[in-house]
Amino acid sequence: MNYVFQPHAIPSVAVKGTAKRFPVRRIFCVGRNYAEHAREMGGDPDREPPFFFTKPADAVVDTDMEIAFPKLTKDLHHEMELVVAIGKQGESIPGEKAKEHIFGYAAGIDLTRRDLQAAAKAKGRPWDSGKAFDQSAPCAAITPAAEAKNIGGAKIWLTVNGETRQSATIADLIWSIDEVISVLSEAFTLEPGDLIYTGTPAGVDPLKRGDDVVGHIEGLEPIHIKLKP
Ligand code: MN
Repeated sequence: MNYVFQPHAIPSVAVKGTAKRFPVRRIFCVGRNYAEHAREMGGDPDREPPFFFTKPADAVVDTDMEIAFPKLTKDLHHEMELVVAIGKQGESIPGEKAKEHIFGYAAGIDLTRRDLQAAAKAKGRPWDSGKAFDQSAPCAAITPAAEAKNIGGAKIWLTVNGETRQSATIADLIWSIDEVISVLSEAFTLEPGDLIYTGTPAGVDPLKRGDDVVGHIEGLEPIHIKLKP
């Protein structure tokens, strides 16, 4: 193919146990998928069906990276999340078949410019400037599904400068991993390379320049980022 300029490299995520990388196609994110977080954001966890937003594929950032403090925001929030990596195409996937489409799992952070998201919400505008900015999707190495035991019951937590800010278990998800895949695949044909950030537990909080952030999910590789001073 002849392009008018050199095409951008394909964004990718590390895979545990191999030098091969997972090429990222799209990034889907679930909003308000833990009851306590839905409440802290002013929602009602009992009545709201899952909803989705997206980030560009090249928002992914490897673990152990130092990243620039994002532009325009005075209220950058961490959202610690389980990331599901899709390895097999599917549409209208029934919940009981969802696992067949999972390549693996990773620890990720949905970085959020909360002030810009709040301004967009207030005016009924899209969330892109609050959610889909450069380097907004740190993602640790993916653990292949066969090696990720009991992910549905794993603990999930995040520390900032060594202090715990978020702590929950994946079992607290309002919409389970299987249900998220099933509902999302009604709206989009899922493809290998798609990542799904499955939502964050309560405890989202602002980050500042120089902060050291580590997110853990039991049985998976941790995600670690440092914000430039
Ligand atoms: Mn999120």
